[in-house]
This record gives sequence, structure tokens and C-alpha cells, in this order.
Amino acid sequence: MTTHSLLRRCFGPRTAAFVLAGLAFVAPAQTPPDQILLKDYRPRSIFKIPETRVEKARYPIIDVHSHNYARTDADVDRWVRTMDQVGVERTIILSGNTGARFDDVFAKYRRHPKHFEVWCGLDYTGFDQPGFGPAAIAELERCHQAGATGVGELSDKGRGLGATSNVLGMHIDDPRMDALLEKCADLRMPVNIHVGEDQWMYEPMNSTNDGLMNAWKWRIAKGPGVLEHDEVIDSLERAVRKHPRTVFIACHLANCCADLDRFGAMLDRYPNLHGDIGARFGELSPVPRTVARFFQRYQDRLLYGTDVDPEPEMYRVTFRLLETTDEHFYPVFFRKYHWPMHAFALPDDVLKKLYRDNALKLLPAGGSAAKSP
Ligand SMILES: [Zn+2]
Repeated sequence: MTTHSLLRRCFGPRTAAFVLAGLAFVAPAQTPPDQILLKDYRPRSIFKIPETRVEKARYPIIDVHSHNYARTDADVDRWVRTMDQVGVERTIILSGNTGARFDDVFAKYRRHPKHFEVWCGLDYTGFDQPGFGPAAIAELERCHQAGATGVGELSDKGRGLGATSNVLGMHIDDPRMDALLEKCADLRMPVNIHVGEDQWMYEPMNSTNDGLMNAWKWRIAKGPGVLEHDEVIDSLERAVRKHPRTVFIACHLANCCADLDRFGAMLDRYPNLHGDIGARFGELSPVPRTVARFFQRYQDRLLYGTDVDPEPEMYRVTFRLLETTDEHFYPVFFRKYHWPMHAFALPDDVLKKLYRDNALKLLPAGGSAAKSP
């Protein structure tokens, strides 16, 4: 017999309906756990363990991986205040643009030359036509003259640089890129490049995917001519080997979070290669001891980056991860992950290099926009 029919038998239909409505009001329906969607899963840690709030980075920071997030001059000013508040001395805006778009982005940040550097992209126009090269080099020189201090973020997720929805582009080791990459070395412009995506984005998009929510968003569409994860990393390796004078920064640790040894082997072989950790805080946090060992071993080659909207709390989560021993926490930022974070507790000497010293070694001293104060 249901609750409703029991109530009807005892009190009649009107009173039964009234009582049921009251019960529904005091006891809201609970979703059975087998009906909670992964996207809605928002656990709170119950562990009584230290929670460290890091208001400001322990050492000054150069953020080598950010983008043109500010829409207005007021946004730029707010960003500068945030940087001062949390301890970011300088931010590199990877515009990826050339031509008038580069000039516009550069103009937006030039009021704060100590706080920002703006890097340009490469102009791939006509890359699939004979004669590609000289015009792209001329535009690179123009951007450099206009104030670009580096190049990036170039991006090859397997379809190549300069790819459009129906045309495949060039990979970074393509002979057509040679003169451009040599010119970057001549101009002392480091090249920040994104290759592939992390391994989750290539795995089946089903209940076995270890990082499903994020993997689905950034999944790689396979197809003829599209390089797989290891193939696109190999193309970067060949370019780094071919251009030993050119400084390469593989952003997101070359998307090797699930196999840091792969990236480590490249760092061992090529002194002109470096890695930035932008937007890989969640990806690294499940394996804090492996990450701490990696950062220790490659402490001279890794760079701090964010690649995320410049909110104060975003920076603070990254400081908490890098600096503290906190375990099992769910920060407000980076909530797209369905796992808790675990911090890396990097030692002071490693932190200093990651935060600033390694970047200072790579950035051209005579950059237009900014020198360290
Ligand atoms: Zn980026």
C-alpha cells in the first residue's frame, strides 16, 4: 500500500493530498546517487586537514602564458591591480595575431609596459602556394619592430599550423617553416607552441575516460591527415632538433601530463626546449609526487603560466597547488574536473626558478614592452 492510499483511507482524499503536499515541502526530493550526472557532481571535502590560503605568491612571478582577456582599458587597469595584489610582476599576452589585429592588442596593453609583453603570431597566408615565406618573414620583422618580443601561441592540434576547417596546415617541422623559425632565432624571439592535446582527448569518450568532462570539451576529431598525439609531439621534436638556435616553449608541457617522461626525454636531449605549465593544474594534480619529482629534475626548464581568466582566486589556486602541502581540495576555480586537487609542495629554489628566473633567462633583454623593474 502506498503512503497516499494509506492517507486516503484514514483521512479522506482532500486531507491526504494536503498532508502529502506538506511532506513534499519539508522533505525535498533527493536525487538517487545513480541518477546524479558527472557534470553536477560537486563534492565537498570532509577531511579535517590543513587548508592553506595563499594570498600572494611567495616570490615574484612572470606569467608566460596568458591571452588578450581584457576587453577595455578599465579591464587592463583591473588586471594590473590584480597582478600587484597577488604578486605577478609581468604577464605575457600570447596574442597569436599579426597585422592590424596584433597592433590593436599591443596598443591596448602599452600603457602598462612594465606589466605586459605582447607576442605576435605568424602570418600563414598563402602557405599552400608557391612563394610562401618572404611576406611572412617581413610581417614577423614588422611585428618585432612594433614591439612583439616573442611568437605565440602557435597551435597544431594535429591538423597543422594555418589549418582551416577544410584545409590541413603545416606541422612545425615542415620545411616551409624553416626560414621563419630561423628568423625567430635571429630576432631572439622565443616561440610558444601548443601541440596536440593531452591523452584523455584521444581516448574513447565513454565511462572509461579518466578525464571525461574536460576530455569531451577538448576532444580531438580524428581524420585523414590528422596527426595522433605521439605523431604531433614527434613533429615538435624534429623542429626543436632542426633549429637549435631557436628557443621553443612547449606550452602545457607539450600536452604530456599523462606521460611526463616523454616530455622529460625531450628536455634531456634539447637545451633549446622549455615547457610552460599553463592550464594544466587540474591535469597534474592527481599525481603530485610524480609532478614534484619532475619539477625538481627539470627545475631549470619549466615556466609558470596560467592561460585562464585573470581573477585573483585563479592565481591563488595555482599558488596553493605549487607551494603548499594541502591535499584533497576542491577549489572554486578549475571546477570542471571531477577529482580533488593535491598540492606539489615545491621547494623554494625550484619555485623561484619556475616563477621568474627561468623566464628571465629566455626573454630578450631589450624587449620593447617590459623589463623587470
Ligand atoms: Zn593559451
